[in-house]
Amino acid sequence: MIEASGSELRVLPLGGCGEVGLNATLITYGDRAILIDCGALLGLHNAPGVEKAVPGFEPLYTGGRKLEAVVLTHGHEDHIGALPALLADLDVPVFGTPTTLDFVRSRLERDNGVPAEARSQRGRLVEVPLGGHLGAGPFDIEMVRVTHSLPDCAALCINTPAGRIVHSGDFRLDATPAHGLPTDIERLRALGDEGVQLLLSDSTNSERHGHGLSEAVVAKTLETLVAETSGRVVVTLFASHIHRMRAVAQAALKSGRRIGLVGRAVERCWQLGVQRELLPSDPGLLIRTDRIGTHPRERVLVIASGSQGDWQGGFHRIAQGQEAGLRCLPGDRFIISARTIPGNEPTVRKLVNLLLKQGIDVVTDRMQPVHCSGHACAGEQAELLRLIRPRHFVPVHGDRAMLQAHAKVARTVGLAEDAMTIVEDGQSVILRGDTVQRGPDEPVSRRALDREGRMLDWGDVRDRNKIGRTGLLACSVVLDSRGGCVGSPAVTFRGRRESSMVVQRISRAVKEAVDSSPALGADPREKHIRAAIRRVLKAEKSVLPELQIHQHLVES
Ligand SMILES: [Zn+2]
Repeated sequence: MIEASGSELRVLPLGGCGEVGLNATLITYGDRAILIDCGALLGLHNAPGVEKAVPGFEPLYTGGRKLEAVVLTHGHEDHIGALPALLADLDVPVFGTPTTLDFVRSRLERDNGVPAEARSQRGRLVEVPLGGHLGAGPFDIEMVRVTHSLPDCAALCINTPAGRIVHSGDFRLDATPAHGLPTDIERLRALGDEGVQLLLSDSTNSERHGHGLSEAVVAKTLETLVAETSGRVVVTLFASHIHRMRAVAQAALKSGRRIGLVGRAVERCWQLGVQRELLPSDPGLLIRTDRIGTHPRERVLVIASGSQGDWQGGFHRIAQGQEAGLRCLPGDRFIISARTIPGNEPTVRKLVNLLLKQGIDVVTDRMQPVHCSGHACAGEQAELLRLIRPRHFVPVHGDRAMLQAHAKVARTVGLAEDAMTIVEDGQSVILRGDTVQRGPDEPVSRRALDREGRMLDWGDVRDRNKIGRTGLLACSVVLDSRGGCVGSPAVTFRGRRESSMVVQRISRAVKEAVDSSPALGADPREKHIRAAIRRVLKAEKSVLPELQIHQHLVES
């Protein structure tokens, strides 16, 4: 390990290395810095009420560091989801491609946690087209076109006085994307020819061999499935996948169907796609959601949000069949054009079974190629390494297994062991001349945010878990001026049931404990009360719940 000093180029992942999500990488040259992506971690398990986690932003300004810019590779939540929190803290310009910034504006508008002054930061969102450059302090950055699972995605070529870094962003090397141009192979090769000191590349699919399925195959499959369905077709997908939405819309048009949108996310992203001329703008194409039921089933295709089964999404609403107009009938077909994210399988499976029970034909990506990943598989990752031919390689975007599998891919294309470094969040690498070495570590932290974007204390989240597991016992004691108990302490359980006999025993034990030591102060008395409750529950062989003790003093 070497110490950071002078005008060295340093890369410090704040998130996304050693975990999936929360992608954010700090690149510093001397005391000037840029942040590549500013993502959130979604779908946290065992964290009730936590909508997402975002990075602690201290490393962006500690030690006199000056953050020149945030540069975004694309508009997925795990790349932009922490921006509302960051812009509430810091005044910094945010650069991204036009569609990426559409997603950012939409995120900022929806996030109630952003104070008004941070909302005005929208003026500081700076559009850079694919192929364009931006300048931020000593950094000159080029946006290089890559394909992924939403429009307008970029890899970044970061030029600095100390050398050149290429950051792949999330990417595919799909020669036949659903719409638009494929990854700019020629530009990447040219950058490789000119020389790249360090490549940071997406590791998400490094454990999957070969090349991923093409979007063109998915589009063709969807077209066939829609054409051969006698009833209504419902397709659920990731709403931000506007190119997939376009393929679905084209399949609908070809089979003479009008389109109904179910779910706020698909409505929002459809509007965004129309504005950017990525989706058809024909006003006669869409059916109002509340009118879907009045159209002949064979003339309708529904695009539904909530492909992960979340209860507010279109998928859930339709499968539950609570809204008559949206209810599926035998002869209808339901296509899940999305991967089920690990952890969501039981929810999605339940909804699939519900649809099957109603006689609906359900198609998933296990049965037919109705979905493909937006991330490069090992074969594509190897191809990128061959194009860039970096002197040094650091795999990013993935848990430890993904990062290590990506390093294996790099070995197969001839990268030497000392030309690659695996780092996790908070571990840095330093470029000095042509060498890349491990630099000093820095502490990285996580902030928990609720649905409204308000910060939660991790201690409170732990309490919620405990209450969820064991329930809550609230005990209220009224004290006279001498510290004796007035009447019987009130004992209430929430989230579990105990017999009235146990409740009375606890109340009596608390009264005895208080009356036996009237001279105690509030804190030692509370300890005394807790011990008394614990003794009763232990004798009952009952699990100890979270305890909440209230002491009220009555003036005499
Ligand atoms: Zn992505």
